[in-house]
Amino acid sequence: MDHFHLKDGALWCEDVPLERIAEAVGTPVYVYSTATLERHAAVFRKGLAPVGDVHFAFAVKANPNLAVLRVLAKAGYGADIVSGGELARALAAGMAPADIVFSGVGKTRAELVAALDAGIGQFNIELEEEGRVLAALAAERGQVAQAVLRVNPDVDAGTHAKISTGKAENKFGVGVDQAPAIFARLAGLPGLNLRGVAIHIGSQLQTLEPLEAAYARIGALVDELRGAGHAITHVDLGGGLGVPYRAGDSYPSPAALGEMMARVTRDWNVTFMVEPGRVIAGNAGVLLTRVIWVKPGVLYPHVIVDAAMNDLARPALYDAWHDFAAVRPTGVNETVNIAGPVCESGDTFATARRIDRVASGDLAVFRTAGAYGATMASTYNSRALVPEVLVSGDRFAVVADRIDPATILAAERVPEWL
Ligand SMILES: *Cc1c(COP(=O)(O)O)cnc(C)c1O
Repeated sequence: MDHFHLKDGALWCEDVPLERIAEAVGTPVYVYSTATLERHAAVFRKGLAPVGDVHFAFAVKANPNLAVLRVLAKAGYGADIVSGGELARALAAGMAPADIVFSGVGKTRAELVAALDAGIGQFNIELEEEGRVLAALAAERGQVAQAVLRVNPDVDAGTHAKISTGKAENKFGVGVDQAPAIFARLAGLPGLNLRGVAIHIGSQLQTLEPLEAAYARIGALVDELRGAGHAITHVDLGGGLGVPYRAGDSYPSPAALGEMMARVTRDWNVTFMVEPGRVIAGNAGVLLTRVIWVKPGVLYPHVIVDAAMNDLARPALYDAWHDFAAVRPTGVNETVNIAGPVCESGDTFATARRIDRVASGDLAVFRTAGAYGATMASTYNSRALVPEVLVSGDRFAVVADRIDPATILAAERVPEWL
């Protein structure tokens, strides 16, 4: 259930017709539903209730918009961040520092210091040297950094290679076999309270089996670490639950995830952290676009829309599918290719896709664009940076401006010696 629905023959977000947003803000534009974000946050929390003591940290990289983060902060979510920029956003959104966890394989010293200064709740250490540097920086400041060691459980998440993170050859975490020795060397350092372990095996997971296998490995590791005398009080189970991008696809529910987590972790006796991103934000957003032309093609007509790969990169990056729907469906179907104006063939959203027939000037949406959408936008081809709108009931607000090419041009210089 995502609060994008047909009313009077046209698509609305909550109580606002998308046509009104297109008229007021122009296209392309991302549109998010507050009710959907709140609903997903609540459903995910409820699904994991059987697991016990769980802290919810929204993976900011999925949708870092300040207003979106504020909605989730109000829903009691903290933040899983992967950069100093995301730290600043989480704090600006009103998330409590104690509810912020810092993941990421390449935290710079400056970012570690910024996070220590902010007093964040947990550092997820990705390699031994990072642990040593963090401990030293914290000790210099008279602080004790709360930390867990990210472990690579070597499971195949069964997802797209570019968003798979838990195979031994991936860059993330320390090998499960090396973890006990690294843990032992870091555990005694002043400035560091190494209190547990973390995993995150990938994104857009379509089944629970890889997660269950990973959790089982982490459970065995927790036993081993405890056997070696370490106090293990926290385990971070990561994110990764997939969402249906195609109408009719079925995915594990938060309740099914919670049931599995509760079963596998029953005797662990720890405080849990989870880091959901896509499952919260994905279906809470659409990319609203206008058809520029319908161009005759050799096999199928090309529907050329005013959104492009710079606005929504997932199809070009991951061969991802986004359902496409006319804002005012005609009831007549047609098979088409859908592409943006960018000058490369990678700027194709769909080929041989059966859609509602559209004509030049018609509005349409790419669905399930609320996660890994606007955040990956660029200005490639000197296009504007796409704006974002948040809807709540019958209200809507522009929550990120369209940055036009002139503004970007104004930040560039020709040196005097040219
Ligand atoms: C990206 C990421 C997440 C969120 O993944 P989703 O698939 O969006 O749930 C969680 N944890 C870490 C460490 C990540 O890098």
